[in-house]
Amino acid sequence: MFAEVAFNLATGQCFDYAVPAEMEAEIHLGCRVRALFRTTEMSGYVLKLKDSSPYQAKPLLAIEDASRQFPPQLLKLADWICEYYCASHECVIWNLLPAVVRKGEMQHKETLYIDLTPKARDLGSEEFLSLTPKRQQVIRTLIRLGGSLPAKETLGAVDASSSVIDALVETGWLAKCRRVEERDPFASVILQRDEPKALTPQQSAALSAIVEELDAPKPKPILLHGVTGSGKTEVYLQAIDHCLKQGKDAIVLVPEISLTPQTTLRFRQRFGDLVSVLHSGLTDGQRFDEWTRIAAGRSRIAVGARSALFAPFHHLGLIVVDEEHESTYKQDEMPHYNARDVAVVRGHLEGCAVLLGSATPALESYYNCTIGKYRLVEMRSRIDNRGLPPIELVDMRAERAERKENEKGSFFSRRLKALIEDRLDRHQQVILFLNRRGFSTTLTCPQCGYTASCDNCSVTYTYHRKVNKLVCHHCNTMIDAPSKCPECGNPEIRYGGYGTERVEAVTRAVFPKAMVARMDSDTMTNTESYRKVLDAFRAGHIDILIGTQMIAKGLDFPNVTLVGIVQADIGLNLPDFRSAERTFSLITQVAGRAGRGECPGHVVVQTCTPDNYALTTAQKHDFLGY
Ligand code: ADP
Ligand code: ZN
Repeated sequence: MFAEVAFNLATGQCFDYAVPAEMEAEIHLGCRVRALFRTTEMSGYVLKLKDSSPYQAKPLLAIEDASRQFPPQLLKLADWICEYYCASHECVIWNLLPAVVRKGEMQHKETLYIDLTPKARDLGSEEFLSLTPKRQQVIRTLIRLGGSLPAKETLGAVDASSSVIDALVETGWLAKCRRVEERDPFASVILQRDEPKALTPQQSAALSAIVEELDAPKPKPILLHGVTGSGKTEVYLQAIDHCLKQGKDAIVLVPEISLTPQTTLRFRQRFGDLVSVLHSGLTDGQRFDEWTRIAAGRSRIAVGARSALFAPFHHLGLIVVDEEHESTYKQDEMPHYNARDVAVVRGHLEGCAVLLGSATPALESYYNCTIGKYRLVEMRSRIDNRGLPPIELVDMRAERAERKENEKGSFFSRRLKALIEDRLDRHQQVILFLNRRGFSTTLTCPQCGYTASCDNCSVTYTYHRKVNKLVCHHCNTMIDAPSKCPECGNPEIRYGGYGTERVEAVTRAVFPKAMVARMDSDTMTNTESYRKVLDAFRAGHIDILIGTQMIAKGLDFPNVTLVGIVQADIGLNLPDFRSAERTFSLITQVAGRAGRGECPGHVVVQTCTPDNYALTTAQKHDFLGY
């Protein structure tokens, strides 16, 4: 027998090895093996087994331990990714496994336990009664405490010396036993159990369509087009419930997990520790445990960013892709893939249902419905028939013409400013959105015309005031901000344009009494800081929340009644054929944050191109029109 083995080398090739007779029974596809590559011993994965090889194949050296094997059920999918995205096998195989599993340095965290043996069940036996009183007492205490304790706690709990314990182990009353302890990323979070909600008629209709596909032998992918606040998540939850009851597992993909802690929490609240969460904020140990929990079948649902699609479930029933239009589903390094499309393929290969959900589906997905590849399910109204918020376009050209240049707070139109004042008076909350971080976006010298731009990319630097640096948003190069023009020495260098940092500064100046917070990747350095701000916002300690696309999705705050989009044109002018589509969905998503509670919401979009079709259709909540 011969094996084709892929190593993590940039060769784009697999290599043949002979399988020694004693390994033949154990070796399988996806198996991790040790072998000599030239003169170096390396690990690789078996991608093919065959009877002959045209080469003088060296023998394999060993099979590595079971926790590091490539899940054989994913091999076909890996093949497809190689073909479709023109990536090499080695690259795909290596990237579908979490690094910590692949590297194999992580071990399970084990704890030594002291357990009672079955012999200790009969306290009436002569053998028990012949024990010393101290030993009898130890056994009785252990029974009272549930029959098993971590070794560290035992001595204190049963009030005995280690020699007594050792003697009981030797005589077969107790046993020492190592157990794997799972590092639970939710250990510090107190979960409130969440019960299934009674569905609205449109939710039930959506659910029964999904259940139909779940029950079908060859399910068709479903696109769930539901407006913001229509209750898509509840539909996902109940669909998953159905899938679990069929004895099958589910994967839920979310665009960027640190940005959707609320969504993640809802799965955990509904399904408890059947849920594994995979995201970049986990420690290596946690990630290793979650992955092995899935592989061993102890976890039934995986929620995570795009790589969670490769969770090693054996009986997958459903894959949910939330916000399926999101560009974060695309991986822009090798292997390049779009997790939404690969989800559809995994569904096809494993015969499982795929549910794509969005308020603003990607045009490709919608098109796939019109040609019958996907099944379209719609939810057109919000829960409780709350209206979608009216969207108002404010023409900033007219606004500027009527106003003095450099007036304080000049990027606030009078309309937006008045509405913010009104909301502050009523103690309602405001979200201000600008999809650009930093303080100002250009640094120019009015005297010699110098513009500061990155040496590597020729992209103009963005000024970040807090750290007083110029940052290239393309390659992240950072240099000290000059106090005078580096070319001609003019001290009157000028900062132009604005990002969220400046919006924050101006907002604080214009609304001195308001509590203001900013949320972008400069202020949110970890999941914890994100949770803190959101908790404060929920508790009403923040009046105005300013942010980039980080605040556009998933947030469900009923007291937010005004959303201001500071400059809608930013995204429209990017040289990208999707710039209009992105702007349309971003406005729809951000607007969807308003009016989710009792009080109706309102949205103000400031723009210099109020006639642009992306804006006029977004204004009318008209996806089809778009
Ligand atoms: P979407 O994801 O479509 O924007 P969500 O799933 O966040 O919408 O739902 C919006 C709100 O409506 C949430 O607060 C959710 O708890 C609530 N909700 C969803 N379904 C129901 C239901 N059937 N009955 C009552 N409330 C619901
Ligand atoms: Zn650069």
